[in-house]
Amino acid sequence: MNTAIPDIDSIPLPSLHSLGITLAVMRLDKLNQIMSGNKLFKLHQNIEYARDKSLDTLISFGGAYSNHIHALAMAGKYYGINTVGIIRGEMPANLSDTLKDAKANGMHLEFVSRSDYRKKNEPDYIDSLRLRWPQAHIIPEGGSNALGVQGCEAIVSLLDSQLGDAYDVVALACGTGATLAGVSSAIQPGKRVIGFSVLKEGEFLKESISDFQQAATHGIQANWNLCTDYHFGGYAKVTPELISFMQRMYGEYQLPLDAVYTAKALFGLIRNAERGVFPRGSRLIFIHTGGLQGNRGFVEKYPEIEFTQPELMV
Ligand SMILES: *Cc1c(COP(=O)(O)O)cnc(C)c1O
Repeated sequence: MNTAIPDIDSIPLPSLHSLGITLAVMRLDKLNQIMSGNKLFKLHQNIEYARDKSLDTLISFGGAYSNHIHALAMAGKYYGINTVGIIRGEMPANLSDTLKDAKANGMHLEFVSRSDYRKKNEPDYIDSLRLRWPQAHIIPEGGSNALGVQGCEAIVSLLDSQLGDAYDVVALACGTGATLAGVSSAIQPGKRVIGFSVLKEGEFLKESISDFQQAATHGIQANWNLCTDYHFGGYAKVTPELISFMQRMYGEYQLPLDAVYTAKALFGLIRNAERGVFPRGSRLIFIHTGGLQGNRGFVEKYPEIEFTQPELMV
């Protein structure tokens, strides 16, 4: 997959400057015109796998605003592979913008009840999908499998090719933890990774991350931490404080953030830095994992919130 070299934008926050800490953002959200974000990395080796095995269909799972479903449909169109999205919940009268895009990119959408959706990793359910689509590669929700973890190692190669050794800490948002697992497996010794859970009660992610690292065969790393304090009420929940943070980052630094993942993680990173978690002189890199398309769901869900970022509507 040809990707442009992502920009690394410096964010000169006065509160960090006085602590001798620098912050820069690796902009995976604007990698290329067609696809962006960490989901591109998670899909890369899954697509290679399907092509090697001459499988003509990719099947995966997600909600109505899923960045993964959005990316999968785009990738399928780009590579000429059929895509099937198993979508949580009954078919709505009006499709979300995310699902409209997915459909426009040729994805076949199947809506399943929430209780059926919960069976998505059960062998019987997977077998029933295989019966219907014998030539399919089935990818778990979020693109989070061993191939997805391995694909995320490329994020570090891109970072190193641009910065060499000139950073100390990499921070990113965690949903399943697969991206963190890949990044922390690939990072050079001496550097650290800090993940921010966007889920409430995200402690369980620590075990998932170790499991992902084992499944991807690199063994468990000890170079990362998970911070579970910045979920803002839970997955896809927002607060006025979070929204005003997003508006400030965009207004002052032209940095668009998504409300589900990157806004929470960057907020948490800055708070940690301001509280003295990182030593003086630390060079922090925040990985912008994308997801801006999902902001369109918030405009529908919270009409009272004024989003000022034009990127929110992309
Ligand atoms: C999916 C996603 C994540 C979380 O990735 P995991 O590998 O599941 O932890 C982070 N940021 C964005 C924008 C995402 O879409």
